[in-house]
Order: sequence, then structure tokens, then C-alpha cells
Amino acid sequence: MKVLSYLSRRSGKAATGVSFDGERVFSLEELGWPQGTDVLSFIRDLGCDFTRVQAPAAGGEALRDVELLAPIPHPANNVICIGLNYRDHVEESDRAGILEPAKAEAAYFTKHVNEAIRPGGAIDGHFDICDSLDYECELAVILGRDAYQVSREEAGDFIFGFSVANDVTARNIQKGRGQWFFGKSLDSFFPMGPWIVTRDELGAAPDLAIRSFVNGEPRQNSRTSCLIHSVAEIIEDLSRGITLRAGTIIATGTPSGVGMGFDPPRYLRSGDRVRCEIEGIGALENSVR
Ligand code: MG
Repeated sequence: MKVLSYLSRRSGKAATGVSFDGERVFSLEELGWPQGTDVLSFIRDLGCDFTRVQAPAAGGEALRDVELLAPIPHPANNVICIGLNYRDHVEESDRAGILEPAKAEAAYFTKHVNEAIRPGGAIDGHFDICDSLDYECELAVILGRDAYQVSREEAGDFIFGFSVANDVTARNIQKGRGQWFFGKSLDSFFPMGPWIVTRDELGAAPDLAIRSFVNGEPRQNSRTSCLIHSVAEIIEDLSRGITLRAGTIIATGTPSGVGMGFDPPRYLRSGDRVRCEIEGIGALENSVR
């Protein structure tokens, strides 16, 4: 099933809902959850017991009629990210000479997200302080249960589902400051969507085509099975010492083809449209302003 946040055409209000067939969306109230339940409360309450959500015989509204919001518009914590997690991206990063060379251990950082940007929403280029705006199409993993000291074999049981994210980056701010946090965390630098596809549909370690396009031109093209550190390994590694709460978002890294990797680099400009898509999940398109 797809779990989404949206503006209901019927009520005119923001809602969380579920689509079982990709045609109709049912609000959580229609599915029996208390009025006002937000997406994070829903994820925490459901855990990963997907069988508790049953499609009603009638009701809902047409999915194509609602305006999508980011599935988790206001993440409870910083988004956990892993850098340099596709081999071809490690190579292009080394060529670009912008980042420290990759090490064997996973390179984690976090992204401060006041508000995740909805499908179709604008990325603010912050061109007063950013001269090298870049895109990174990534598989986002959403946890459905608190995870502490979880082995890689058990990790799948803690995954709620998957979405598409764009780890937008100001390369000039990422570089040379001893951390990546600031250059990754500017307002609007985390578009996410179009929804969360739950793990019961995709499996815990899906092998999916992952692609991005700028103004329709192909830029990134890989598969999520090419991750150096798998989703299960990331959960095992981090949960050795951190309780990863239900609702945590992990952005798992990006393949080659980012703007930094071209010679000369091809950074984003005002008016550009970036489309990130992952097979079996959907497409996330945003323009730069
Ligand atoms: Mg990234």
C-alpha cells in the first residue's frame, strides 16, 4: 500500500491516507484511526503490522484529484544520511576532488529538515550563498518500529517502507568545513515523495531502478542493489548504539551522475526541473527557484 500526506479536495484540509490500488485514497479516519492522527503517529501505532489496514468497500477520493504533500512533512528528527554509498558515485566524487576520499566505514551525516518539500514544490537555490547547487536522487527508508541493537538479519522487520528523496546539496558549503551538515540542511533541501510504499509490497531489500533527470535529460541511472552498505547493514550498524525511533528517515546515498561529477560541473540553476524516480515507488519532481 501507499501511505501519503495530501490536501483533501473534499475537506480542503491536510490529511494522511492510504491508497491500496493507486486509484483511490482513503483518509486514516475512514480506516478507523482517530481524527487528527498524523503520519508519524500512524506509523508508530501500526508498527509494521500492515494487516491491520484493510481497504474499505467504498469511500475515499480519487488519488489524481488530491494535492500531494511530502509523505512525512515534518520529520521528528534529523534525516539520517549516508554519503558515498554507490561505488560509481565514490569514483566521480574522487575525480571532482570536492570531498574527502571515501573510507571503508559508512560516512554518516544528518540533514536538518524543518519541512520536507512536496512533489511539485520548489527548491530554494539560496543563490546568495550557494554557487554550486546539486541534486542527489536517493532511496529513503522509513522505520516502523524502534530499532536498538538489531542484527542485519532482523533489520527488515523494522522497515515500514520506502520513498524517494532528493538530498539537495550546496557543494561550496559542503566543502572544506569539516562537516556536511550545513551544506545539506538549507531550507527546502529535502524534497520527498510522492508517497511511502510499504515493505510488505516491495520487500526489505528491493532491487529497483533509480534514476534522475534535469529538464528531462537523464543524469543518474543505477539500481538500489548497488548500495555499498545495504539498508540492513546501516540499521545494524547505527542501532548498535542509537535507538532509531519509528518514523526515522534514512537517506541511503546517491549513484553517480550528480552535477559535481561532470567536467565541467553541471549545477542547478533557477528554473531547472529535477525529477527523481525509483521503480516501484514513483517520481518526485521539483523546480528550482
Ligand atoms: Mg546524499
